[in-house]
Amino acid sequence: MEISRRSFLKTTLCIGGAMTFPVRLAKAAQPQGRQPSPGYGDLENRGQLAERIDQARAFLQECRLCPRECGVNRLAGEKGFCRATSRLMVYSAQPHFGEEESLVGKNGSGTIFFSNCNLRCVFCQNWPISHEGRGKEIGDDDLADLMLYLQQIGCHNINLVTPTHVMPNILTATRRAHLKGLRIPLVYNTSGYERVEILKLLDGIVDIYLPDMKFMDAGQAEIYMAGASDYPERRKNALLEMHRQVGLHQTDAHGIAARGLMIRHLVMPNRVAGTQEFVRWAAANLPKATYVNIMHQYHVAFKAFEYDQIQRSISTAEYIEAIDWAERYGLINLDPKSLAVRDFFMKHKRS
Ligand code: SF4
Repeated sequence: MEISRRSFLKTTLCIGGAMTFPVRLAKAAQPQGRQPSPGYGDLENRGQLAERIDQARAFLQECRLCPRECGVNRLAGEKGFCRATSRLMVYSAQPHFGEEESLVGKNGSGTIFFSNCNLRCVFCQNWPISHEGRGKEIGDDDLADLMLYLQQIGCHNINLVTPTHVMPNILTATRRAHLKGLRIPLVYNTSGYERVEILKLLDGIVDIYLPDMKFMDAGQAEIYMAGASDYPERRKNALLEMHRQVGLHQTDAHGIAARGLMIRHLVMPNRVAGTQEFVRWAAANLPKATYVNIMHQYHVAFKAFEYDQIQRSISTAEYIEAIDWAERYGLINLDPKSLAVRDFFMKHKRS
């Protein structure tokens, strides 16, 4: 189906506040090209997807969807740490071309940014969305239509950014979209601050996990992540569960991600992210072929300038050291772009 440029801009470059959703697609979107068999489709065929949705929605009554375990009744409009009720807030939905190559492919990763966050880091690079909750309230049917539209324009996956606190809505929308033709994989793009018990509800539904691995030290996590000193342990357990569910990163014949665990680690100044400890842990606890993206994009954002250790970008030496550690501990599936950046830094570094 040919999509006009005007239609494309109107319906997909939607930014919170001035967002125009593709309100109810007139016709069910049809998957284009290759039609993979996503996990949620298999679960639906076995008659289990609706049951999972009921189990997930039950958590909203006394919310324990994440390790904050606020216990608030979100169905009654109460808000916990993440400031979300049971209604969805979405900031944007559009093809994204800045993600990992296997997610982006030719047509982009169908990225949906959810407003609010259960972690709220002081250096958050999306703070207007995650801290201030900018976005627009929509229904689960609208989310289903957004998913279908992203598929219709050729996106290779549905990339759910900061999904943890709205997971029940996502499952509801995924089922509705699937019944109308959704066939592309779900990418669970999370901070990693997850409860294993909750992740088990996603077993067989999520095809690709894309978690962050931010800090390895409880003290650093407490300082920079709103008191979440349990983040390192929670996140380690979460990664093991994610790997159990989806295994190693797999691509199709065109190099497009189909399934698996893809870990992101953001290198931070003055080694505060614990990069060496992270790669040592990953190499010892996960297969060495686990996909790891060691990222250099840290920049001073939001309140980071108030903290001595993180009020500058990283140096080339800090990035080179990070990749070297990963290789030294034996990780053999590092993101190709991160290796290229390291090589560029090596070539141009000052003596
Ligand atoms: S999802 Fe939100 S309300 Fe629920 S436990 Fe986490 S922070 Fe609290």
